[in-house]
Amino acid sequence: MSQPFTPDVALLQLRGSAQASLHQEAACAARQRFGPRVFVRAVVEVSNFCRENCAYCGMRRANRNLARYRAAHEPLAELLLKHLPSSVTDINIQAGEDPVAVRETVLPLLRTLRRETALGLSVCLGTLDAVLCNELQAAGASLYIIKFETADPLRYATLQAPGKLSERLLAIRQLADSGWHVSSGFIAGLPEQSPTQLLANLTLADTLPLSGCSVSPFIPGDETPLAGTPLADLELTLNTMASLRLMRPDWVIPAVSALNLAGQSDGYSRGLRTGANLVTINLTPENFRDNYLLYKRDRVIMNEERILSALASEGLSPSKQSLADFFRANRPVAHLRPPTLFPNPA
Ligand code: SF4
Repeated sequence: MSQPFTPDVALLQLRGSAQASLHQEAACAARQRFGPRVFVRAVVEVSNFCRENCAYCGMRRANRNLARYRAAHEPLAELLLKHLPSSVTDINIQAGEDPVAVRETVLPLLRTLRRETALGLSVCLGTLDAVLCNELQAAGASLYIIKFETADPLRYATLQAPGKLSERLLAIRQLADSGWHVSSGFIAGLPEQSPTQLLANLTLADTLPLSGCSVSPFIPGDETPLAGTPLADLELTLNTMASLRLMRPDWVIPAVSALNLAGQSDGYSRGLRTGANLVTINLTPENFRDNYLLYKRDRVIMNEERILSALASEGLSPSKQSLADFFRANRPVAHLRPPTLFPNPA
């Protein structure tokens, strides 16, 4: 059995031909495990109400300039049942942390989709209580996306991310224990984040019971306290993605649309070249999109045409198997390394 790959700071900082080799090696690891197939998921962003106040997000509750919306179940069901792009095998229902939307929109939508389709169903809805999580599972969802954002508890607190980092990690473990497949994620290139701090995210992710993990480049979001801070370095982000892939060849790692905001416009394709194996088509109704303010009002919307063209140009094609079916057949294994959170200064 080959030795587990251990990422290090030097790898995160590679440039030039050594960096190209790292990315190539990561892409090969993904293709060896998954072949030339990439999972294609659609996302619908059903509510931008949020009770949290993350400093990196324009949907934080303190942003009073944002027109808030909750989408109704019926038009979304019609959209997803009648106008779903043929390459899509999974739906991700996403919202700010808004339990009202979970009850009024997400649960009925999941029940409709479960009754009418064989699509895989994911949710990204924040930290919810166990009762609601169980209802989501009973309604047909099987993958919960919940990011830990940073392995540094102090930074987590200053970013005003939800609750405490320790609570977020507990939520990840509890979701996995109760039968969910869990995907997490973290932000690369936060203001003044050192390479050692960035590396700690990889180490932490490896200790968690995950099926997948994302690396999102830091984008100074419109209407946030961090609006004036520098954008993440795309090269550092891609090296982190490549290291994540080599560390966990078995994980599902998405190419996130923010890669295009951090790069010239080829960031997304370059993400696929570091071994990403999940792409997302945005199906949020147009009248809501500008107010789903994760980063910028001027969003890069990945439609089916853009996604298929990005895949084709990398010699990749959509997976016929859904993420949900893949996860059902492949239970995650948490590596038994001790959790090494970035230490708080004394
Ligand atoms: S990142 Fe999520 S939880 Fe935080 S403010 Fe934005 S929508 Fe809310």
